[in-house]
Amino acid sequence: MFDSIIIGTGAAGISAALTLKQLNKNFLIIGPKNLSFKINTAEKIRNYPGLSSVSGKEMKEAFAKQLNDMGIEILDKQVTGVYDLGDHYAVLCGQDSYEAQTIVLGLGVETVKPIKGEIELLGQGVSYCATCDGFLYKGKEITVVSSSKEFEGEVEYLAQLAAKVNFIPLYKDVELNLGNVCTFKGMPKEIKKENKRMLLALNDTNIESDGVFMLKASISPSVLVPGLEDKDGHILVDRLCATNLKGVFAAGDCTGRPYQYAKAVGEGNVAAHSVNHYLQELKKNK
Ligand SMILES: Cc1cc2nc3c(=O)[nH]c(=O)nc-3n(C[C@H](O)[C@H](O)[C@H](O)COP(=O)(O)OP(=O)(O)OC[C@H]3O[C@@H](n4cnc5c(N)ncnc54)[C@H](O)[C@@H]3O)c2cc1C
Repeated sequence: MFDSIIIGTGAAGISAALTLKQLNKNFLIIGPKNLSFKINTAEKIRNYPGLSSVSGKEMKEAFAKQLNDMGIEILDKQVTGVYDLGDHYAVLCGQDSYEAQTIVLGLGVETVKPIKGEIELLGQGVSYCATCDGFLYKGKEITVVSSSKEFEGEVEYLAQLAAKVNFIPLYKDVELNLGNVCTFKGMPKEIKKENKRMLLALNDTNIESDGVFMLKASISPSVLVPGLEDKDGHILVDRLCATNLKGVFAAGDCTGRPYQYAKAVGEGNVAAHSVNHYLQELKKNK
């Protein structure tokens, strides 16, 4: 069992990992190995102390180097659920499960709000994870809504499994050109299920399929962690980055504005120290 599992490879998760490493904790950090796409996207960052003008790409390379230098390896997976097992937590990544005494959520903020029916039908025809659930739709017809270009690899993976993919990109510069992928433009409004078929309302029609994949970088925290208190999509934390669940801490954009690197890095550090304190208290009370 790990002392802690950090979810997210943005500024917050990386900062928590660096501090936990210094504190000599046994932890896992899960998220994209290529790090948060947000780190990469800033054209110029001018408000990060010590670096007067750095691009997102340079910042990302510096973060990656520091992780490498400290011997921290990222587990490149998407977390599909975090469950309370009484005195510790189980973190599910599709079929795989990892256990830890504490959790640090550095999930970033969800920019695409769930559409009507999405949360209600999650696990009943709606999925957030291509690699976890893709095999369920082998030879079938699926609909894929993608919020970002970074998921094109996952769409390709799904297209290899499914007979047909109805693809709705919510971004520009789509670079997919596969025989069984039919691309639609527009903003999905609602998902319904009728006679085991999924109906996705787009423009004035319903796109029918066997399953709907909603690919996005971050899903609603309270969907990922049942029982977690949030408000307006942000996880509620105190000054020590503690959530309402014992042993679960949160840092960065997912705890609220301002959405800034410096705040994410600061909270990641606070969360790691809180993990350390929590573990010390557990030991004392044993
Ligand atoms: C275009 C742009 C320009 C910006 N410019 C600036 C600037 O100049 N100055 C500034 O201070 N800030 C800037 N920002 C904001 C800054 O990028 C964010 O505040 C910062 O990245 C927040 O870090 P974070 O770790 O909280 O979240 P993110 O960077 O969003 O990282 C979240 C991580 O969690 C992962 N994740 C989420 N859910 C899961 C899951 N279920 N399983 C596994 N991993 C998961 C994501 O994949 C990602 O790796 C800019 C942002 C953008 C988009």
